[in-house]
Amino acid sequence: MLIVPEVRALLTRADGPRDVFDRIVPVALPMVTRFRGLTVRQTCLVHGPAGWAEFAPFEEYAAPEAAHWLAAALESAVLEFPEPLRATVPVNATIPAVAAEDVAGLAARFTGAQAVKVKIAEHGIASLTEDLARIAAVRAAMPEAALRCDANAAYSPAEARQAVVALAETGSLQYLEQPVATVEELADLRAWIGAEGLPVPLAADESIRKAADPLRVAALGAADVIIVKAQPLGGIRAAAEVVAQAGLPAVVSSALESSVGLAAGAALAAWLPVPEAAFDGHAPAAGLGTAALFASDVCAPPLLPVGGALPVGRTAPDEALLRAHAAGPERVRFWTERLEACWEVLRREA
Ligand SMILES: [Mg+2]
Repeated sequence: MLIVPEVRALLTRADGPRDVFDRIVPVALPMVTRFRGLTVRQTCLVHGPAGWAEFAPFEEYAAPEAAHWLAAALESAVLEFPEPLRATVPVNATIPAVAAEDVAGLAARFTGAQAVKVKIAEHGIASLTEDLARIAAVRAAMPEAALRCDANAAYSPAEARQAVVALAETGSLQYLEQPVATVEELADLRAWIGAEGLPVPLAADESIRKAADPLRVAALGAADVIIVKAQPLGGIRAAAEVVAQAGLPAVVSSALESSVGLAAGAALAAWLPVPEAAFDGHAPAAGLGTAALFASDVCAPPLLPVGGALPVGRTAPDEALLRAHAAGPERVRFWTERLEACWEVLRREA
């Protein structure tokens, strides 16, 4: 993992997370619909010399993986965001794996979005009929938006080919995200799609953010687009470095953070150069509109897209909302111990 010099210096100099963060506030945020199996998003806000930051590894992540998220939180808490190239960042709508009849209501939360990402394959290829119905509903509700589908690595290689053919028949796709699990499977599928002449570009997500080497995707020609997330890649600057080294068009996405973490994602998206020869020469819509999936957030107002775009800049939580969503004592202990464990992992790497 790339650790920026300022954070590296901090890890050798400071005694621990409490030495850097003057506030550590775990919260539990209710969601409007189940997403990634969650109805409540547990996360932890931290405050340092540069402002508020978020430490948001999903609960099941062990310290070696969650440590990347701490590197990101440290960066945002001690360093200013990089100087943005754009004042706003276009974002895509996100439609979870809901029933087709629920699509219109969700789509209405994302008016003006130029792209829409639809979750598919919740139960692998067994979901295909429901997925196609959901996609039809999305195309009807958002006819102008470019369509992206995200399978979260749920298909076997054979199932992925079946799904690609079915998806291609629904119309043009901006890309299909992570249909299969491994980088090798992605590379094989992409070669097959090319040979068949199907209009389905592939994007890599899990193969970037959960991989020991995020650059293998580019080395094996496994994707047309990479999805990058500031937190799992160790921060804004580390994620930008992955994009530069991969040399592929990149779409910044959230890791389902609150509006504090989303601001760091927007800072990354606003700092990346517009990819040449992709997305019609425009900055691609980022997957940062996910505050719309929260019933309540820590910021007032939350960092929601206006006319399909997010403003770029720091956000700070509202104290009343922090109190309203404060996690219980058991959760506070969980996050405190987790911060310490992740700090140790980073300190050994620094
Ligand atoms: Mg994804």
